[in-house]
Amino acid sequence: MTNVSESAVADLRETGATPALKRVGFISLGCPKALVDSERILTQLRAEGYEVAPSYDGADAVIVNTCGFITPAVEESLAAIGEALDATGKVIVTGCLGERPEKIMERHPKVAAITGSEAVDEVMGHVRELLPLDLDAFTGLLPVAAPGTRAGAQQPVTQPVREDTRHGDVFAPSVKLTPRHYAYVKIAEGCNHTCAFCIIPKLRGRQVSRDAGAVLYEAFRLIAGGTKELMIISQDTSAYGVDVRYRESEFQGEQVRAHLTDLAVKLGEMGAWVRMHYVYPYPHVERVVELMGQGKILPYLDVPLQHASPRILKLMRRPGAGKQLDTIRRWRELCPELVIRSTFIVGFPGETEEEFQALLQFLEDARLDRVGAFAYSDVEEADANALPDPVPEEVKQERLARFMAVAQRISTEKLAEKVGRVMDVIVDEFNDDEDDSPGTRLIGRTKGDAPGIDGQVYLYAGDFAGQIRIGDIVQARIEDSDEYDLFGEVVARPEWRPNVPQLGHFGRH
Ligand code: SF4
Repeated sequence: MTNVSESAVADLRETGATPALKRVGFISLGCPKALVDSERILTQLRAEGYEVAPSYDGADAVIVNTCGFITPAVEESLAAIGEALDATGKVIVTGCLGERPEKIMERHPKVAAITGSEAVDEVMGHVRELLPLDLDAFTGLLPVAAPGTRAGAQQPVTQPVREDTRHGDVFAPSVKLTPRHYAYVKIAEGCNHTCAFCIIPKLRGRQVSRDAGAVLYEAFRLIAGGTKELMIISQDTSAYGVDVRYRESEFQGEQVRAHLTDLAVKLGEMGAWVRMHYVYPYPHVERVVELMGQGKILPYLDVPLQHASPRILKLMRRPGAGKQLDTIRRWRELCPELVIRSTFIVGFPGETEEEFQALLQFLEDARLDRVGAFAYSDVEEADANALPDPVPEEVKQERLARFMAVAQRISTEKLAEKVGRVMDVIVDEFNDDEDDSPGTRLIGRTKGDAPGIDGQVYLYAGDFAGQIRIGDIVQARIEDSDEYDLFGEVVARPEWRPNVPQLGHFGRH
């Protein structure tokens, strides 16, 4: 017996109406790791039959995936929650800031529910409570379990698609918030370090690595579906597999270790662009750089160095610190094309002018390609807050400006060296201009540029106008450069041939 109400069915038949879908709005804040969590929740929402509302209009509730890393991020998250509450009145908060519910309740006592990060099941539980789906076999829009199921125990046929995120694999989301041609692949969650300025380990717990087989199957599926560039992310990518003692798992009939080098070899064999983020300079990274030199994975390393003074690095309790310059020189011998991106903190408590100058000198010597910097600011509950000798705000800002001036000059010089070269460029978007016919101007990135954080390449399609699509990898002659970007023209559009069979028809590329 089902619990269908005959009058409800009759009403629907008479009016021709269909039951309304439940729509959930989503705001995703924070880093790429949080973005992958958002993708997981969105995948589950879709799997259970909810519709994702593209704006507040028509959203029955909103999920806000928050960032709680630094004070401005906390403020941005709190503002987003307030805006979502004003618009819909029903808000579920998740993510890093959700680990500090009192902070949210203090400002927004009317939020419906709060969860921490990586809490897909919990978030879904709150969504189901807030917006129950019509699971009736006759009036509902979703297929339900076979008639005869205990009343009240009916479930959508589409079951949750993940397992325990902390002890098993973190499932590979099928809803992506990135364009089809690139995707973030998270290989581990949490962190075993205790950097003095960071509360991520307190928020996200100790490191839990995924099995290599699970990561590789996810990569395989993405590439088969048209993804050409994979961004490998975690909190400490070099430490991948340490927590599971590099255990082996199956991928296409072979056993593969959960170890960064083994993973990089296997990913490289798939033939897509593979980009490594959050890599710390541990000795085994040399082997990964060798793979870059052999063209197996992209010659790109995102290495958050944070400082160059040994004393400050010790105060920061940074992993992999020491002999940074020697390591970088060795990497460049192994892979002369290597592009290194890094981030730094200036004005850390106790940083003297001499130590700051040592940082500037390091920047000059290392000639890093892409550099980001922040003026240090306290993060609630971070150990660094208790350190003596805070640097006055105006000194921090002055150092930040000096640091960025040096970084900008080096970037300008390094980009100028690329003028005249022919480089592979992945096309991210059209840069349509009123004066040009559509498809004439393009914006893309070289192998040395990650989306969202590095520079761009502005291209004329030239003879290929109208033939190039978003996600194509073209060859371009670089004709000009400035501080952060390159400018050029497309000279070829080679065929995209990954070593993974392509699903469906995606044309030449
Ligand atoms: S390595 Fe340091 S900065 Fe990075 S997540 Fe771990 S504790 Fe935070």
